[in-house]
Amino acid sequence: MGLTAEVTKTPFLSLTEEELTAALDHAGLLAFGAKLPEIAYRLVHQNGQFDLGSLPGVGAHKRARLAELFELGALEILEAEPSWDQSVRYAFRLRDGAVIETVLIPHHGLWTACVSSQAGCALRCGFCATGKLGLLRNLEVHEIVGQVLTVAAHSGKRISDLVFMGMGEPLQNEAAVYKSCAILASTKGAQISQKRMVISTSGIVPAIRRFTAAGHRMKLVFSLGSAVPEKRAQLMPIQRTYGFESLLDSIREYGASRGGKHVTLEYIAIRDWTLGDEDIEAIKQHLVGFKFILNVIPLNPVDPELAAPTLEEVRAWTSKLRPLGFPVKIRRSSGRDQGAACGQLGTSLLKQGQTFRRSVEAV
Ligand code: SF4
Repeated sequence: MGLTAEVTKTPFLSLTEEELTAALDHAGLLAFGAKLPEIAYRLVHQNGQFDLGSLPGVGAHKRARLAELFELGALEILEAEPSWDQSVRYAFRLRDGAVIETVLIPHHGLWTACVSSQAGCALRCGFCATGKLGLLRNLEVHEIVGQVLTVAAHSGKRISDLVFMGMGEPLQNEAAVYKSCAILASTKGAQISQKRMVISTSGIVPAIRRFTAAGHRMKLVFSLGSAVPEKRAQLMPIQRTYGFESLLDSIREYGASRGGKHVTLEYIAIRDWTLGDEDIEAIKQHLVGFKFILNVIPLNPVDPELAAPTLEEVRAWTSKLRPLGFPVKIRRSSGRDQGAACGQLGTSLLKQGQTFRRSVEAV
């Protein structure tokens, strides 16, 4: 299947309400229906009806024009696998044949969508299934927004939280990610507060600085991997481009911009790798100058050289951190039994022997 999608119509899900209004005005469709943009936006983004032909109170001629102007479809669901913990892993096939994954995760009666920002990923983190696929391409705005709306429509759940922890490095697709956040926050749309949107980054330092300078309301979390610089460089090759100290500086700047609130660092627990006394010493030595929460995530094995620890091993190690005075959480990933965990998406594709092209922009 070809890799270039033939898109002649404007993807409806890529438009803010203001852009939709301008497009309808340009097409002469606002003359007798100033409320048309709002009605259309609510129908699709709030009611999950991916059919402008069912717009209430809109004449047949106008509906036909809308169908000519806009491409509007839910993403094609390849799989929707429920897990023991009520999370559901979705695999979507995009127009060009790329497959991406999204996870719907329950938490205290609310629902989070863990979305992908790229098809595959170029950054090759050693603990991550997606990294082993390579990068096919950045996702477009409508493909990011479409994940959330399709999952909501399919599950019948109202999504209150969004995390960019699926496939891809979100800060290598900044513009599309930020626009998607704005669209999904619209009061005429999905109404997900930007304060409840989390973007996880492996450490794209210039983009972190741009994020901080822009004053976005979404939250960044940082994938630390390990606090020993040499180990981190092995686990996360991005560090060869953006060094450990510059990453920590950018995190300090981000923390300061949030009024000194705790910054979340994600730490991967790997047996015989990141659970030693030297790792505790490195945390004491390097993670200074800002307040942080350490989320310790037991590895889901994707590489024979990296072994998953038992929960007891992780607990024993984190108990040594408690006296250091910062919050430590052991975070068990939702949907662990089916490879639907953070950094694990794409596992099913790997099992099928699929790989994406390596990006020429790879680190
Ligand atoms: S952990 Fe994130 S940045 Fe690293 S390879 Fe996986 S998807 Fe890419």
